[in-house]
Amino acid sequence: MKGKYGMQEIKSYTESQKALLKSRVAEMKIPPHIAIIQVGDIDASNRYVKNKIKDCEDCGIFCALFKYTSDISEETLLQAIEHLNQDKGISGFIVQLPLPSHINEQKIMKAIAPEKDLDGFNKQSNTKPATPFGIYAYLKDMNYDFVGKNAVVIGRSDIVGKPMASLLLKESMNTTIIHSKTSEKDKHYFIKNADLIVVATGCCNTLDNSFEFKDSAIIFDVGINLDDQNKLCGDCAKNLKVAFQSPVPGGVGLLTRLALIKNIFEL
Ligand code: NAP
Repeated sequence: MKGKYGMQEIKSYTESQKALLKSRVAEMKIPPHIAIIQVGDIDASNRYVKNKIKDCEDCGIFCALFKYTSDISEETLLQAIEHLNQDKGISGFIVQLPLPSHINEQKIMKAIAPEKDLDGFNKQSNTKPATPFGIYAYLKDMNYDFVGKNAVVIGRSDIVGKPMASLLLKESMNTTIIHSKTSEKDKHYFIKNADLIVVATGCCNTLDNSFEFKDSAIIFDVGINLDDQNKLCGDCAKNLKVAFQSPVPGGVGLLTRLALIKNIFEL
């Protein structure tokens, strides 16, 4: 197992997929134009936005950045979204999360028109939630042997946990969703027997070495969090005793970004 699902493999996979997408863009009469709305100046967000713009450029897609200061009112942000909803020159757009605490993220996400929803958060949209689909597409393209294996998804959000679990179930994995009401004892039980673990809790150290893992287990760490020292961390402690654990940053993020580019074609 080791070697097949390492970071090198994820990097080569995303690069080769991007080359394919670039050739698709080259065949289009008018290349897609997309936009990113960013609020504030958080380092992690700056990095994610910069990488998303670079991905677009690599594929020949135009990406405009609308950056607002963190004191923007919710109303002004909603107007900016409506402007992009109406702009026929923009195929789709993203609002980079997290948003400042005075802005209701759910309300902002709902304001994005389904036909412009690049992140795939809106159920009426043709696009797919980028993170679970990014992980799924990678495993599928790597011919991961899903059938009859044990998958554990930690987290049950509409944008990550639930769609992730349903994709794995569709591939005939024995799929368990764990959430904040799962007892510690049960969590340890399910994790100990898991072949594939996707962690999306938004809490550092959701999994650490107090858990027992299968040597062959693979972990995709979706979390993007700030630890006590304000340093970026995932949902898992580092260096867990498994065959592969995706790092944060630079693991699942690459797959999510690839899925975002694929979503542009859906729009
Ligand atoms: P969310 O909506 O806050 O959901 C978190 C889920 O985790 C909830 O279902 C919650 O259970 C569960 N949970 C919280 N603490 C837990 C614990 N200790 N044990 C078990 N379950 C626990 O979060 P989300 O939107 O899915 O995002 C999760 C993380 O992924 C965040 O860090 C987010 O920033 C990150 N993210 C990354 C990407 C990427 O591209 N890499 C994309 C999207 C999100 P309850 O339902 O019982 O409350």
